[in-house]
Parts: sequence; C-alpha cells; structure tokens
Amino acid sequence: MYDFAIIGGGIVGLSTGMTIGQLYPSARILVLEKENSWALHQSGNNSGVIHSGIYYKPGSYKAKFCHEGNRSLVKFCQNYEIDYEVCGKVIVATVKKELGLLDNLYKRGLENGLNVTKISAEEVQEIEPYVHCLAGIKVSTTGIVNYRQVCQKYIVLIRNQGGELCFNTKVRKVHEIGENLVLETNRGTFETRFLINCAGLYSDRIAKLGRSNPKAKIIPFRGEYYELKPEKRYLVKNLIYPVPNPDFPFLGVHFTRTIAGSVHAGPNAVLSFKREGYKKNDFDLRDFTEIITYPGLWKLAAKYADQAIEEIIRSFSKAAFVRSLQRLIPAVQADDLIPTHAGVRAQALMNNGNLVDDFLIVKSQHAIHVCNAPSPAATSSLEIGKAIARQIPEQSHLKTRVSV
Ligand SMILES: Cc1cc2nc3c(=O)[nH]c(=O)nc-3n(C[C@H](O)[C@H](O)[C@H](O)COP(=O)(O)OP(=O)(O)OC[C@H]3O[C@@H](n4cnc5c(N)ncnc54)[C@H](O)[C@@H]3O)c2cc1C
Repeated sequence: MYDFAIIGGGIVGLSTGMTIGQLYPSARILVLEKENSWALHQSGNNSGVIHSGIYYKPGSYKAKFCHEGNRSLVKFCQNYEIDYEVCGKVIVATVKKELGLLDNLYKRGLENGLNVTKISAEEVQEIEPYVHCLAGIKVSTTGIVNYRQVCQKYIVLIRNQGGELCFNTKVRKVHEIGENLVLETNRGTFETRFLINCAGLYSDRIAKLGRSNPKAKIIPFRGEYYELKPEKRYLVKNLIYPVPNPDFPFLGVHFTRTIAGSVHAGPNAVLSFKREGYKKNDFDLRDFTEIITYPGLWKLAAKYADQAIEEIIRSFSKAAFVRSLQRLIPAVQADDLIPTHAGVRAQALMNNGNLVDDFLIVKSQHAIHVCNAPSPAATSSLEIGKAIARQIPEQSHLKTRVSV
C-alpha cells in the first residue's frame, strides 16, 4: 500500500513526487510512468526556456508560479550544479500594429513585478545585431536549461527520500475500494491512499478514470522546430521572440539558444490527430474521433480559422516558416535551417471553445488531477509541485510533516 501514487514521469509528476516526499518524509511514494524513461513527452521536447512570467494575466497561477518558479528553478540549478544560464530575452515588434501590443506586454511585465525595459530598435540591435524591428522589450530574468536534466535530479531526490519510480507501467484503470484507490496497470495493480494525476497529454482521460470531470478536453498541438546550421548560429545571441497574439496561449515562432549551444527556431502550433503525434502524418483513430467530435474544437476553429490555416501552411511549407522567422531576422535563409524535433502541447479546451488559459488543478476526495499544465509549467514545476502538496488533505496517519 502506497500513501501517494503519481501518474506521470514528466516534470510536473516528478516535482510533485519530490515535494510530497519533503512534506511527508515517512510517506510511501510511487511514480508510475508508461515510457521506459522520464520526460519523453512535453518535458523533454520543449524550448528549454526558463520563462520570466511576462505574458500571463496578473494574479493567475501562471503569472504567480512562473515568476516564483523562475527564481526557485534557478536556485535549484545552482544548488545541484545543473547547467543553466540567465541570458535574458528580447521581444520585438516588427510592424506598426504590434507597437500597442508590445506596450501592453511591457505594462503586464511591470504588473507582474518583473525587471522589463522598453528598448529602441537600435538598442535591440546592440543585444541581437541581426534583428530588424521597430522597438522591443528586454526581459532580463529569462533563462535557458535542459529540462530533462532538471527531471533527472528530481528523480535522484525522490529515490533518496525512499520514493519508487516504475517505468514501462501504464495506468489503465482506477478503482475505488473503500478509502483507497487501486490502479490497474500492464504490470499489475498498485494500491494507494491518494492519487495525483500528472499524465500531461492523457490527464483528462485519467481524471475520468478516477471519476473526476475536468470540464475540458486535452487537445494536442504539435510544435515543430528547425535548427540553425552551426555556421549560422552567430545570427542569434540568445532568445528572440515576436509579440504574441494576446488571444492565443502560444508565443509565435521564435529563436532560442539552447544550453547545449544549438539554436532552435520554432515551435509552430498545429492541431495533431494523435495525442503523442510527433510527425505530421501521425494518426490515432480514437484520438482523432474524440477531437473532431468535440464541440469545443469547432467553436475554437470558427474563432481562429485564419491562424489555424496559417499554422497548417507553416507546417507543410518551409518557405512559409522561414518567412515568419525573417520577420525577426531578415538575413535568415531556408538553407540555414534544418528540421529537428517536435513537441506536442497538452492544451485543455472547454466545450464552449475557450482554451483553458491558466493551470487547472481539479481536486476530489482521494485525488488531485493536473488537467492543464502547458507552458510555462516546466519553469513553474517546483511551484506547481508545492501547490499540489499543500492541497493534499491532512494525512493523519503520516506523523512527520515539514513545511514546503
Ligand atoms: C513544444 C513545446 C515547447 C515548450 N517550451 C517550454 C519552455 O520553453 N518553457 C516552459 O516552461 N515550458 C515549455 N513547455 C511546456 C512544458 O514542457 C510542459 O508544460 C511541461 O513539460 C508539462 O509537464 P507534465 O509533466 O505535465 O507533462 P509531460 O512531460 O507530458 O509528462 C506526462 C507524463 O505522463 C505519462 N503518462 C501519460 N499517461 C500515462 C498513463 N496512463 N500511465 C503512466 N504514465 C502516463 C507520459 O508518458 C508522460 O511522461 C513547452 C511545451 C512544448 C510541447
């Protein structure tokens, strides 16, 4: 019998396992992961950016957890000697109509308590010499890290606290038996007093297995990346972002230097017909049927038809992708870019066609379900883990409790 079972060996599940271990040092903790290693989905296929928190609605979980998470993650990397760099980033307006949005973003940054500076086109070029723009914002607290390495450290700490991690173990059913839950997997059953669902792209399905209704469905949005050829890396010093569409949770294709030294361009945001569909032709009948019969999708498509078409074109046409990048750096050419990995975002969508904007954590008597943890959840992972640990009802059978 376990005290806590966590479904998902991504950054949210692992941070949660580690934090619960600190809160309840005597607890028996189990993390179940269906893959043969950790962070093989969103947590290992992202941009590797430690976000500052500039984009998010003041007062939201995203704004709070990202701002605090940025600091706690940097401290964590320092304590455990994980490579990271606080290199800062620029967000730039390249056409007149973006200037107002840039200004709004600057004000939002101030409201969120960040160190942001408005800079002229010339000042942008002092930071990023190849960028052509009208004006920009400098955000000094943005950084870069490899999130797989962060996850690896979380695992070491979970295991040092006595927690267990089972790979190749897929949860198929959840039964309530008396006060406890029984998790049926391909490798037998596990009994737990409390369940935490951090299953990312499958979090809504797991919530339903646990008889919770997240009132939203996970819609997979693939993000495809290109990489600058090594001899062209000089075009990008650090991180260069466009002004995002404020109605959309995605940031627009951008340039990011990674902690390993490569430079990525992307990701776009295309609807995927498979939850873990990393390739353009990936298809899963159940996922596809579920997605296209969901009324929320059609309401969303009606609102954002133009953007959706643009994303599809950009996915199939390298020329269109390059044109988006040339808005930031006109000197970049198609030959400078080679296709690299893709990631799939788990974005919750409500029946009314609204994307769930904030992190969504749904509680029931014996379970907590993390039903929307898109970007910046990697940056915020330590804070999400703490928030979940604090929401667990008092476990009277577990005596020792330290604060987190
Ligand atoms: C393209 C892209 C770029 C991004 N860039 C950034 C960025 O730069 N900075 C940032 O902060 N955030 C970024 N994000 C967001 C961030 O990566 C995610 O928010 C975060 O990784 C979510 O972590 P997670 O643990 O919830 O999900 P995941 O990492 O997807 O983990 C969920 C895990 O659950 C497992 N699982 C699912 N079902 C079951 C089951 N039935 N049984 C057992 N295990 C199961 C899966 O195998 C998976 O390992 C990006 C995301 C994407 C896709």
